[in-house]
Amino acid sequence: MLNFGEAQQRVLAMAPRMGAERVGLEEAAGRVLAEDVLCPVDVPAFDGSVMDGYAVRAADFAGDGPWEFPVRGESRAGEPLDALAPNTVARIFTGAPIPAQADAVVMQEHVERDGDRARFTRKVSAGHFVRKRGDDLRAGSVAVAKGTRLRPAHVALAATVDRAWLTVMRRPRVVLLATGDELRSPGTPGPVGSIAESNTLGLAAMARRAGATVAVAPLVPDNLDATMQAFEAALADADVVISVGGVSVGDHDRVRPALEAIGVQLDFYKVAMKPGKPLALGKRGNTVVLGLPGNPVSAMVTFAFFGVPLLRAMQGDGDPLPRAWRARSGRAMTREPGRLEFARASLVREGASWIVTSLENQASGAVAMLARANALMVIPAERTELAEGEDVEVYLLEELGA
Ligand code: AMP
Ligand code: MG
Repeated sequence: MLNFGEAQQRVLAMAPRMGAERVGLEEAAGRVLAEDVLCPVDVPAFDGSVMDGYAVRAADFAGDGPWEFPVRGESRAGEPLDALAPNTVARIFTGAPIPAQADAVVMQEHVERDGDRARFTRKVSAGHFVRKRGDDLRAGSVAVAKGTRLRPAHVALAATVDRAWLTVMRRPRVVLLATGDELRSPGTPGPVGSIAESNTLGLAAMARRAGATVAVAPLVPDNLDATMQAFEAALADADVVISVGGVSVGDHDRVRPALEAIGVQLDFYKVAMKPGKPLALGKRGNTVVLGLPGNPVSAMVTFAFFGVPLLRAMQGDGDPLPRAWRARSGRAMTREPGRLEFARASLVREGASWIVTSLENQASGAVAMLARANALMVIPAERTELAEGEDVEVYLLEELGA
C-alpha cells in the first residue's frame, strides 16, 4: 500500500498542463494566471495628498512659528494645480496631485484659516502626508506573477495597472461518474435498500471551486460492460475522469477491471490513509482517471487531498497542495496504527490556543459528521495514542474546499 505523501506526489507528477485563454477581469477571480502581468507605469503615477488640508513648501517654514501665508489656488482629484509660488500655500484634497514646488501637506485640523490667509503653528517636514509616485509599484516590475491563483485583490491590482483582460489557464473539464446498483437521484423514489446518490453533488461543487468545469454522467450499474462503456464515454470528453464507488475488491467492484480492460494505465489503487484506502490513479493518453471510494466521507476527503491538487496543478498553480495548521488535541485518543488518519473534528479558539477535538462518529459514510466538522485532524500512521493537549496538524475544511 502506497503512503499518503508518495501518492500525492504521483498525482501531481501525472498532471497534464492545460492551455491558456483570455478572460475579462470580471471573470478572472479564482483562475490561475498564465502570464506575468507587468506594471507599465509607476503606481501611483504622481505624488499625491493623503489628507484634506494645505499643500506647502517645507523650506518656507524657517525660524520659529507661527507662520502665515496667503492661500493661492486649490488642487483636487481630477483638477490639479500646476505649481505653488514661494511663500504661498494651496488648498488640497485627498488624492489630488501635489503642485510642483510643494513638498508636504498640513492637515486642515492643524491650520487656522482667516479669509485668504492660513496660519500654521507647527513646523512641517518635507514629504509629510505625501504619497510618493511609485510607492506601491515601480514601472517595469511584475504586478502579478504567472502561476498565481487570482484573488480579488489580484484582479483589482490588474485593473490598477490598466489591464482589461488577462491570460489564464484553461479550466480542466471533469466528468464525474457514480457507480452502484443501489443509487438513485436525490428526490426520486426507489426500492428498499436504494440510497440517494450524494457524492457527485459534493464533488462537483468541490471541482468547480478548484477551477474545473464539470459534467455528471448517468449513474453506472455494477456490471463490467456498463462500467467500461461509461468510462469510454467519459474519457472521450474529459481532461479528468473522476469515478466514485466500486473501486475496492468486492465481488461487485468493477472499476479496476473496467479500467484495465479499456487500456487505462493504473499507477496505484490503494493508499494507506483513513478514510479512503481504496483509491485508484491512472492515465490514458492525456486524460487522468481518479477512482474514488464510494463512502461519502472517503470520497470528499480523498478528492480534497488528491483531486483538488490535481486540478490546481493542471492549471499551473505553483502551490497546489492544501496547507496544514497547528492546534492542540482537545482529548486523549487510542487507535490502531497503520494508516494516516484524517479525523473529522471541531476546531475552536480557547484563550490563546486553537483546540481541535475529533467528533464522536468517524465512520467513513457519516456525512453529517463531515458537514458538522470544520477541520480534519491529522493522526500520523504509526501513532497508537494521542495525549490531550498534544500538538497536532489540522486542515481547515473551508480551505480544502469541502
Ligand atoms: P463502494 O465504494 O461502491 O463499495 O461504496 C461504499 C459505500 O458508499 C456503500 O454504502 C455505497 O452505497 C455508498 N455509496 C457509493 N457511491 C455512492 C454515491 N455516489 N452516493 C452516496 N453513497 C454512495
Ligand atoms: Mg458500490
